[in-house]
Amino acid sequence: MILAGIARLASLSTSLLSKSSASYSLLPTRSLLNRSSGGLVHFDYTINPYRGCEFGCKYCYARYTHEFMELRQPLDFETRIFVKQFSPSSFRHELAAISLRDHIAIGTATDPYQPAERRYRLTRSILEVLSSGRGRRISLTTKSDLVSRDADLLARIARSNVLHVNFTITTMEARLARLIEPRAPRPDLRIRALAALSGRGVPAGVFACPVLPWINDSYESLYEVARAASQSGAKYFGAGTLFLKPCAGRVFLPFLEQEFPHLAARYKRGYARSPFLQGDYPKLIEDRAEAVRKQFRLEKRASAYQPEDGADPQLTLFGP
Ligand code: SF4
Repeated sequence: MILAGIARLASLSTSLLSKSSASYSLLPTRSLLNRSSGGLVHFDYTINPYRGCEFGCKYCYARYTHEFMELRQPLDFETRIFVKQFSPSSFRHELAAISLRDHIAIGTATDPYQPAERRYRLTRSILEVLSSGRGRRISLTTKSDLVSRDADLLARIARSNVLHVNFTITTMEARLARLIEPRAPRPDLRIRALAALSGRGVPAGVFACPVLPWINDSYESLYEVARAASQSGAKYFGAGTLFLKPCAGRVFLPFLEQEFPHLAARYKRGYARSPFLQGDYPKLIEDRAEAVRKQFRLEKRASAYQPEDGADPQLTLFGP
């Protein structure tokens, strides 16, 4: 097969490290900023410092990104991690070419604070460049408490830019989280990181996404996540029903057969025609989320705020 584009670059990548759970390779990149395809998302550019994600969440919709590299085994996404080549000066040029009003979302198809970040510090390098600018709109999404390592940098960015850090927390039950997000940090560690960032003045919130029907969808479950979020300084809270792309289904459905066999047929029926669950269920979850938001006086999404140094009072950033 003749490989082109990102598949060719992946085939040429240099091996950096191989361990029992994952291998890391250096991926040459033409640009770090990727124009968002629009659609359901509310940001203009994305930055994904890595390709693949070792956290290996069973429902992960980003697995398709490895298919572009002709890596099609279901677990390739979580075992073959690519570290993007990074040049601060090239990144500065890329930033100079886009509008200050463009929303840059970090971590839309990989976790920027997955285990690779401890070693390669790529996310930190990106934040260092961003911290030297002002007046931008930036958001970052993670499941990792490693983000608190960069609290100083994030606080500096938040003083001169509109910044929001989104934590994904699907359940406060450590045992369930271990099952569905096998290598992601425990929910209580994420909450602790949220408190650390909030304490430094970094606007942050929590998304209980995805809500997995009949698994983590009870009012009590959402209540517990929102309660912990609120007590740790979260400003906003959201929840959304599982979006099951075919690439995610190839991992998630066998997982269900094994761990929740009584639910497998219901899921297959529910997601037979679309990656979006049809019927009243999504509205039911939105209503539950709204009820817990009211309970804890949380916003639905990141809302406007004025950076401390008054970079631009008009800036408004809408949540994912
Ligand atoms: S943390 Fe995000 S990108 Fe990583 S495996 Fe989980 S859902 Fe996918």
